[in-house]
Amino acid sequence: MIIAKFGGTSVSTKDRIQTICDIIRSEQKRKPVVVVSAIRGVTDLLLSLHSASREEQKNILSTIEQIHSDLIRSYWQNPPLDFSWYMKRCIREITALLGRKRYSAALQDRIVSYGEIMSSFIISKALSFAGIPAQQVVATKLIVTDNNFGSAEFLPKETRQKTKKTLIPFIEKGIVPVVTGFIGSSISGKVTTLGRGGSDYSAAILGYALRADEIQIWTDVDGILTSDPRVVENTEVLSIVSYREASELAAFGAKVLHPRTIRPAISAGIPVRVLNTLRPTAKGTRIEEKSVKQRHIAAIAAKRKITLVNLYSTDMLLSKGFLARVFSIFAKHNISVDLVSVSEVSVSVSLDNDEDLQKVVTELKEFTQVTVSQSFGMVSLIGEGIVGIQNIMKNIFSVLDRLNIMVKMISLGATDINISLVLASSQVDEAVAVLHKEMILKKGKTK
Ligand code: ASP
Ligand code: MG
Repeated sequence: MIIAKFGGTSVSTKDRIQTICDIIRSEQKRKPVVVVSAIRGVTDLLLSLHSASREEQKNILSTIEQIHSDLIRSYWQNPPLDFSWYMKRCIREITALLGRKRYSAALQDRIVSYGEIMSSFIISKALSFAGIPAQQVVATKLIVTDNNFGSAEFLPKETRQKTKKTLIPFIEKGIVPVVTGFIGSSISGKVTTLGRGGSDYSAAILGYALRADEIQIWTDVDGILTSDPRVVENTEVLSIVSYREASELAAFGAKVLHPRTIRPAISAGIPVRVLNTLRPTAKGTRIEEKSVKQRHIAAIAAKRKITLVNLYSTDMLLSKGFLARVFSIFAKHNISVDLVSVSEVSVSVSLDNDEDLQKVVTELKEFTQVTVSQSFGMVSLIGEGIVGIQNIMKNIFSVLDRLNIMVKMISLGATDINISLVLASSQVDEAVAVLHKEMILKKGKTK
């Protein structure tokens, strides 16, 4: 059994839907379960209803209806009448929900869930018309979550039970379930959502619950690349990426699957493939548990702007618990620290998100000197065993020296798969481009 998830752009046009049908037909033997996102843009429209006036709400709803009925008409020319009735019914139900007195997070989740409900209806009908037996399944029947509306967490045991009970009968009869991504339901039966972009997560959850052989994430890129193609020439698709590499890449700035997305897959040892709906025959990237630890640089990710906080205190020399005190202040304000560098009398930390930083600085200033700088960026070289590559640091520094790039801070050895360098924001793109050329392309070891 496989899970095949199609994102918002993959369900948005007639041609793309055709491609979905072709893909599922060619995978029919492997018993696919389809997961879909809302049509591109629809979730944003549904979310915008909250702050809109009554008049604007009407317009937004008619736009949403139009998007779906246009797609239906372009796909079918003469669609059965009940297709447009279904959309109208959804719009009526949303309208009724908007009429409630109190707008709450729970109500918002119910409203946004219609994006996936409408898209899954269309895809299930398209598959049926293409001769592939299919059934729309709303994931409130499958994915059980906590009550954290807007970014709920799934409950593994309950979810496994319900998913198996509901989906296996379809699968056994050769019917392809078309499941709404992004949504679930609390134990008490209220609709919840898993956070923006949550359909990938839904796919991994279902893969985990059904112990699928593979989870396919169909998007509009060829897979995970060696670097950001907007900054770097000649990036290449990585054919295999380990779970840890994928997580590090996402955490250190690459636009790849969110690490949370693949966690259920990791725990069940299920490979995840990132594939391109526009080029369905391309191999894509396979994310899996690598058994053999090779030493290589897989990819280079970057963050153009980070915040660097420097603490200087001569008290530190002899005092115990100084670092504990510093980090407890960051923790209290919910700021996560990326890199840390410590000397006898000073500490530097890099942060990705500096919301609430002022409060942190005020508290730190009670016992140490503090300077904050926002003119830095971070370049991360990522690959299993990277730290053990011979001459790795020498080679990185010789490239950077040639470009006259100064490294302000470095992290190496905390994990064996990530070397991160802090340098001036203005030099990040250049450093990434040249490091990619010299250390990845020239070595030719990425595949
Ligand atoms: N439709 C949801 C969103 O736009 C979930 C997803 O697309 O993955 O965030
Ligand atoms: Mg997405």
